[in-house]
Amino acid sequence: MVCPTPIGNLEDVTLRVLGALAAADVLACEDTRHTQRLLSRHGIEAQTVSYHEHNERARASELVGRIAGGTVVALVSDAGTPLISDPGFELVRACLAAGVAVEVLPGPCAAVTALVASGLPPDRWRFVGFLPRSRGECTRVLAGADSTLVAYESPGRLATALAGLAEVDPDRPVAVCRELTKLHEEVRRGSAAELAAHYGRERPRGEVVLVCGAAAEGAPERGEALAAVRELVAAGARPRAAAGTVARLTGVPANELYRALTDG
Ligand code: SAM
Repeated sequence: MVCPTPIGNLEDVTLRVLGALAAADVLACEDTRHTQRLLSRHGIEAQTVSYHEHNERARASELVGRIAGGTVVALVSDAGTPLISDPGFELVRACLAAGVAVEVLPGPCAAVTALVASGLPPDRWRFVGFLPRSRGECTRVLAGADSTLVAYESPGRLATALAGLAEVDPDRPVAVCRELTKLHEEVRRGSAAELAAHYGRERPRGEVVLVCGAAAEGAPERGEALAAVRELVAAGARPRAAAGTVARLTGVPANELYRALTDG
């Protein structure tokens, strides 16, 4: 059974999940001590085993054997829904491969909570997990969004991610959702330029989800292309040559790229 747990507020756990945790023979936990806090808060005693990114594969095959033999296993991560930028995929896949039923209980997920809080269109959206660490790659992902994009980001890298987007598309609407469901919850909405300036001055604390609006029509290609030109120039290419090369590959006019590069 896949059991989502709170993303901050310990009361955000469903009755069904509490029942499943109490009834399971064993809880597979990303961090057993972390889960213990939730169990104690709700008066649940349970046997736990660790199941984290470093033992996921080995533990998954061991657990599948136990589940096939009748043991009821509940899978939890430190926060939110297991598998969503968290361990669990190996276990679910191993269960399905072995013909063992997987029951998924719905519950908290920071990505969905942030999307709903962002005020950006929720009709079509894409989750990209943690943003790439390379600034150029990160800008390309954000700039190229063709629907609302939801990303996890470390507070230390948020300002850089926003600055990269602001360079190629300063007016893009974004929302930074911080410390959701916790005491210092904050949702800050604005343009990429506004939020880049804000977080450039003030490093955010706590956990952060970045929600980024879709690029205006025709703009995703241009934003991605411009990000690629900037990356090439940063790596030592001459601006005109970089604009020409990217123009040939993307179809975005070279003059337009060169002008945007030199204007910005
Ligand atoms: N499985 C989790 C889920 O369902 O949301 C995500 C786990 S991932 C390892 C942790 C990331 O989720 C954090 O770095 C942050 O980006 C986001 N996150 C988790 N809890 C959050 C919260 N209360 N407020 C804002 N972001 C949160």
